[in-house]
This record gives sequence, C-alpha cells and structure tokens, in this order.
Amino acid sequence: MNNHHRILIIGGGTAGITVAARMLREGHRDVAVIEPSDTHYYQPLWTLVGGGQAEMRSSERPEAAVMPRGATWIRNAAASVDPDTNTVTCADGTRYSYDVLVVCPGIQLDWDRIPGVTDTLGRDGVSSNYRVDLAPRTWDFVKDLRSGTAVFTMPSGPIKCAGAPQKIAYLACDHWRREGVLDDIDVHLVVPTPRIFGIPAIAENLEKVIADYGIQLHTSTEVASVDPAGKKVALRSVGDGGDDGHLPYDMLHVVPHQSAPDWVKASPLSTGDANGYVEIDKYTLQHTRYPNVFALGDAGSSPNSKTGAAVRKQAPVVVDNVTAYLAGRPLTATYDGYASCPIVTSSHSMLMAEFDYNLEMKPSVPLLDPTKPHHSYWYLKKYGLPAMYWHLMLKGLA
Ligand SMILES: Cc1cc2nc3c(=O)[nH]c(=O)nc-3n(C[C@H](O)[C@H](O)[C@H](O)COP(=O)(O)OP(=O)(O)OC[C@H]3O[C@@H](n4cnc5c(N)ncnc54)[C@H](O)[C@@H]3O)c2cc1C
Repeated sequence: MNNHHRILIIGGGTAGITVAARMLREGHRDVAVIEPSDTHYYQPLWTLVGGGQAEMRSSERPEAAVMPRGATWIRNAAASVDPDTNTVTCADGTRYSYDVLVVCPGIQLDWDRIPGVTDTLGRDGVSSNYRVDLAPRTWDFVKDLRSGTAVFTMPSGPIKCAGAPQKIAYLACDHWRREGVLDDIDVHLVVPTPRIFGIPAIAENLEKVIADYGIQLHTSTEVASVDPAGKKVALRSVGDGGDDGHLPYDMLHVVPHQSAPDWVKASPLSTGDANGYVEIDKYTLQHTRYPNVFALGDAGSSPNSKTGAAVRKQAPVVVDNVTAYLAGRPLTATYDGYASCPIVTSSHSMLMAEFDYNLEMKPSVPLLDPTKPHHSYWYLKKYGLPAMYWHLMLKGLA
C-alpha cells in the first residue's frame, strides 16, 4: 500500500467526506481519508430520534457508500501526528506521510467530567441524544414518563450543536402536552449561559416557548454530579445568578462536556489549553504554526458554533486554501464563522438561527422572521436538510 498521500484527511465524518469530495472535484488526484468506522452518521437527526420523530437507521449509511469515488479509504484510527516529519501514526502502528494534512476527527464526549453519570446512562430514566446507542433510549424514557420531574442539562464549554440540549426538552414537552400529562411533570432546563440563546431577539422568543411549556429555566448553571441511587442531580453555579442546589429526577437528559480527542490534545497541533483543539486561523482554517496542516469541523479551534452547517461553509474554504497552498499562491478564501442552529420547538415548528462570528444574523430564507419558530422549517429539518446532506453536501455539491 502507498503510505504517502498528497492530501491526507483524518476523519471521514461530515467534514472529512465533504472535503474529500470537494478536493476530487477540484482536480486533486491523491486524496486519502483515515476513518475507522464502518458507519457514517447524520447526527442532527439524533434529536428527532430522541423526540420520537425519526428512526435511528435514517441517520446511518455505510461509510463505503459515502466515501467519494477516487478517494483512498484507510480503515484505521489516527493515534498521533508528527507535523515536523509530516507523518500520522495509526492505532495499529502503520505510518502515513502527507504533503497536506486536513484534521477533522470530530469531538470527544468527556462523560467522566460528570461524576456518577457513566454507569447509569441508558438506565433508570437517564439518557443522552449525544450517543448513537442512547438517542433511542431518550425516546423510551420520554414515552414512559406520565408524571414526576424531568431534567434537561447542558454543560459549560464548547459543545457540538449547542442547541441540541434544549431542543429535546421542547420535543419532550410537546409530546407530554399531546398526551395530556404535561401539567403532571415538572420540567427543568439547566443551561450554563446567562440566557437561553446568545442573540437577544432569539432568546426572547425561546423564553416564550419555555414559558408556554411551563419549563423552569436555570441559567448560569450546570450539572456537577449525578446520584443514580437517590435519583437526583447536584447543580453548580457557573455565573451570576447560578444555582448550587439539587434537583430530583424521574427522567434526565444529560449532555456531556466536550473537548478535542485526547490524541489531538497531546499532539503539537493542539492549542495546548484544556480543550486542546487544533490551533487554526479562524478565517483561513490553516494551522497557525504548520502551514501544510488545515482543520475544520468540531476539532478545529475556530470559535464558531460547532455544527454541520458550519462545516458546509468551512469545507470550500479549506479546499480553496489547500489548492492555493499547493500551488504556492497566497491563501485568499476566508470563513466568516457562519453556523446555523435549527431549534425544533415542537413536532411541527422550528426556529432557524443562522449567524456568523459577530452573532450577526445570516438568514438563508429572506421572507421568514429568523427570530421566530415557523411551521415550514419543520419540514426542512425532517426532510430537506437530510436530503441536502446525503445528496449534495457529502458529494461536494453544496
Ligand atoms: C444530538 C446532535 C444534534 C446535532 N444537531 C445538529 C443540527 O441540527 N445542525 C447541525 O448543523 N449540526 C448538528 N449537530 C452537530 C454535527 O453533527 C457536527 O457538528 C458535525 O458532525 C461535525 O463534523 P465533523 O466532521 O467535525 O465530526 P463528525 O461528523 O463527528 O466526524 C468525525 C469523524 O472522525 C472519525 N474519527 C474519530 N476518531 C478518529 C481517529 N482517531 N482517526 C480517524 N478518524 C477518526 C469518526 O469516526 C467520525 O467519522 C448535532 C450533533 C449531535 C450529537
């Protein structure tokens, strides 16, 4: 096997496949993707799986089916990178060298940062849409709850799809309302931020949704630990007005803290701080110290909201800049921080928050008020965006 590649990509998820497809369309011939998994996931659907609105299998495709024709698939996991010798060493010890490296192995779920939670995940009412095996369990627990207390939590620090911790609360409440049991359930939503959303006009409308469902919102707060035997969570204040109390639960949807994969943190590519993402220029997505290394997606240090929507705008920038780099030209493509957060507020409505680095709104559909939930967006979430993902984005066409 040829162990040297012109363009070597680590990770065949949303970013890796999109970049590989675009590289090949751009005319690059030697593109290889290191990816250990046999299955590719469209993770945005996991929210709908947890809310009983989609089946897990609709979020899955064989990795072989999404790998672009012409790309070399290296079925292995990267274990370390030596950017001084332009080499990647995989878990089985095989080494690969590159002219240009694109790093996009996604994000790591740091479950151990919430003491008590690991052993109870998937049991006794505790679940998380952030794991493929657990999202269907979320729906089991939502369906089974007829009275008691439900707690939905979000951790501090960057996470992928920062809207997902609240979306599942709204879908659950919508279900309980349709079942006529919402009034018998105390619903708590625990978020580390001072408001439910960073853009005030959107926060105002989401606060109305929260009030309408009767959800008790705990801002500037996160979960410190879970006591599965006592069925309660300890809260920790992380800002002004935060809550240091306890909440009992009959159902708990918990989102873990997240950071770069440990092997990225330990590599010379890392920022070196606790989160350890790949240190890139937030506009060009080029590594700040190793010019033949680029990163995008959840593993990059650019301070955008970590979403597949962000990847869609980052991928063409990486491809343009890699092409320029290889041709010895200056890098001119720039990423403005665009991300979108489709916040489902019920099983028939969605608010489409789209914004850039400056939290300036960037609506794609000009006629609809971007700060409010709309019925038509629901169809976009359930049908339009998945179709766009499988048929256009992963093929390098959108
Ligand atoms: C519940 C949930 C809801 C979400 N909702 C939305 C939404 O509504 N809209 C939206 O835009 N985004 C949403 N996202 C976020 C979106 O899925 C991610 O931001 C996106 O997948 C990031 O792409 P990525 O390629 O960086 O990472 P991933 O798509 O996670 O891909 C990483 C890939 O790297 C591989 N890998 C891991 N380790 C290694 C290794 N050592 N070597 C080689 N390969 C490796 C993995 O197997 C994986 O295939 C959601 C995510 C979740 C979990």
